[in-house]
Amino acid sequence: MTMVANSCWGSLKFSRKLTFWLLHRFFQRQRPQQRLIILHTIEANHCSKLTNLLDYLGKQRHLALTVTFDDGYRSTMDAVQALPSLRAVFFICPAYLDTPDSVARKHFLYRQLLDRNTVPSEPAPVSMTPLRWDDLHELQRNGHVIGAHTLTHRHLSRIDSVRELEREIIGSGDLLEERLNCPIQWFAYPFGGLASIDERACKIIARRYRYLCTGIRGNNHGRDGHPVRWRDAIDLNWPDRYIAFLLSGGLDWAYLRQRRQMMRMAG
Ligand SMILES: [Zn+2]
Repeated sequence: MTMVANSCWGSLKFSRKLTFWLLHRFFQRQRPQQRLIILHTIEANHCSKLTNLLDYLGKQRHLALTVTFDDGYRSTMDAVQALPSLRAVFFICPAYLDTPDSVARKHFLYRQLLDRNTVPSEPAPVSMTPLRWDDLHELQRNGHVIGAHTLTHRHLSRIDSVRELEREIIGSGDLLEERLNCPIQWFAYPFGGLASIDERACKIIARRYRYLCTGIRGNNHGRDGHPVRWRDAIDLNWPDRYIAFLLSGGLDWAYLRQRRQMMRMAG
């Protein structure tokens, strides 16, 4: 009996695997995908990983990709310099660029960007040093897009005052526009999940920006005119094939409710 039971279980597992594989192939073959990926800092040993990953994903014919970098870390400059054909979107918190010294930078990094309660005593990682305003000018000259990521990287849903919300949302884009002398039309709210945004914030974002970028997975194909853009957070330590699976919509079903709620909030 045990042997029979084991054998049934074994074949069931195989059939499940086969189903997932067929579904994956179905997604890959049938559905064109327009995906935005989220990256943050790029460690020195990840530059070549990113190059190899984009090369691998570039061979997936159903996939159109836009790379976005959040928070404004200087290490992302090395990554884009190593990839001259890449045109990315950089979401910047101006207050991080304007931190006056290393102590203020470290506090901003751990408290605001990483949302930690404590600041470690050791120096902040070099890869998380902020970009400089000159870097943003250079990125623009090279065809990259600069977007706003609030002034100080707050959870927008936790801000009570509408004036404060407007300062974070509108103020960041206006400041970037003034310093860079170019229109700022892209906005990504910090932390990217539903808990970090609400309807009030969505309305203010819609007043000021053309695009509202989330951290919710989904396909943007066929939604060209829509301001809400889904994005996929990825980790360069993950295998290329798993990342391709995600970007082919492999886990989109798990985010359906979040996408619906987001669309309700954004109107
Ligand atoms: Zn961020």
